[in-house]
Amino acid sequence: MVRSDVIVVGAGFAGAVISRQLAEAGRTVVVADRRDHIGGNAFDRLDAHGVLIHPYGPHIFHTNSPEVVAFLSRFTAWRPYEHRVVARIPWRGGHRVVPVPINRTTICRLYGVDLAPDQMQPFLDRIRTPVDPVRTSADVVLNAVGPDLYQAMFRGYTRKQWGLDPSELDTTVTSRVATRTDDDDRYFTDRFQHMPADGYTPMFRGMLDHPGIRLELGADLDAATAHARAPLVVWTGPVDAYFAHRFGPLPWRSLRFEHQHIPGQGRLLPAAVVNEGDEAVPYTRTTEFRWLTGQDHTGSSLVREYSSAEGDPYYPIPNPQAKALYQRYKDLADAEPATVFTGRLAQYRYFNMDQVVAAALVQAGKILG
Ligand code: FAD
Ligand code: UDP
Repeated sequence: MVRSDVIVVGAGFAGAVISRQLAEAGRTVVVADRRDHIGGNAFDRLDAHGVLIHPYGPHIFHTNSPEVVAFLSRFTAWRPYEHRVVARIPWRGGHRVVPVPINRTTICRLYGVDLAPDQMQPFLDRIRTPVDPVRTSADVVLNAVGPDLYQAMFRGYTRKQWGLDPSELDTTVTSRVATRTDDDDRYFTDRFQHMPADGYTPMFRGMLDHPGIRLELGADLDAATAHARAPLVVWTGPVDAYFAHRFGPLPWRSLRFEHQHIPGQGRLLPAAVVNEGDEAVPYTRTTEFRWLTGQDHTGSSLVREYSSAEGDPYYPIPNPQAKALYQRYKDLADAEPATVFTGRLAQYRYFNMDQVVAAALVQAGKILG
């Protein structure tokens, strides 16, 4: 058994960033992951057909943080990429395919109107249902665009994705796709929107390639095993698992991925991702990877996502009940002197990749004093 100054549990963004920072400061680090690969859920690889895919669903990098870009740019070059998504939604007896987030195009196409930009808000004011105060994810959408678009684009998708009604989720969930009055059809508005030029996995390889870092894959650690191996533990796995689910398991949402490959050169989908607003369609979205990666290939690989309560934890559930239970675990975590909890699973936060990197950089700074 190799001992080190620090043991990092998890080789995703949180674990890789913190390992690198500590190793550069002279600490010896063992980073262990139960999976047989690095990168956590951002891992990418070539599939059997030679297409670069994201086995754990589409990962698009976007951030407003210059510090995060500067740090990651040490380990990768970038390819500019602005992500666009359409939603296929039930509408007036049929199905329509429109841009999401809702923008001027979405409204004009669905309502058969031709609105100048300054006529958008007055139109929205006619269809929306004012809600005050806005308390839930349902309120956010009803307050912005009213019941018809809420039903068609958000209610079914959200019920499938979370196994909960939007009225049972915090405002933060549907606020991620806020309504716009202009024609901007990009999914994100961040200043920096790029993909790692050669993919995520080579970037992780670069981060973890340091003489002070030793990588152990296929190593499933619990708290006791981790502590037996180093005076400091950085835990990036689920926080409830660290405490052996003492207060009962936290609610997590998982996904099942259905990958497929279709020969042919043209793009098959009208955008990188097609969201399925119809609750009767069992999956939430389909992604065609060649849009994301820019890869030129004789065939196209796609993935469909089916949400479920069973399986690996992918999403913390943003609602008051889950938060209350998390707070009990957080109180325990705060009292653990020799463990640092960081990342999406360890902090039970609906973090994007850049937020995980930013949090890990801060944690590394704290450890190093
Ligand atoms: P993870 O990537 O989950 O890494 C944790 C690692 O710890 C895992 O590899 C796990 O195997 C390991 N581990 C856990 N417990 C143990 C244990 N006991 N012993 C050993 N190893 C253990 N973010 C974006 O910014 N843009 C996107 O487009 C985007 N799309 C996403 C799509 C999907 C479907 C999902 C699920 C997430 C998406 N995200 C996206 C979020 C992004 O995946 C996360 O923010 C980020 O990957 C979290 O990094 P992490 O290191 O905290 O956790
Ligand atoms: N959402 C929706 N319909 C859509 C897009 C998003 O109902 O067409 C809701 C849904 O609840 C989703 C949330 O908005 O979980 C956040 O969407 P995002 O695309 O950010 O989800 P993620 O990529 O994190 O899965």
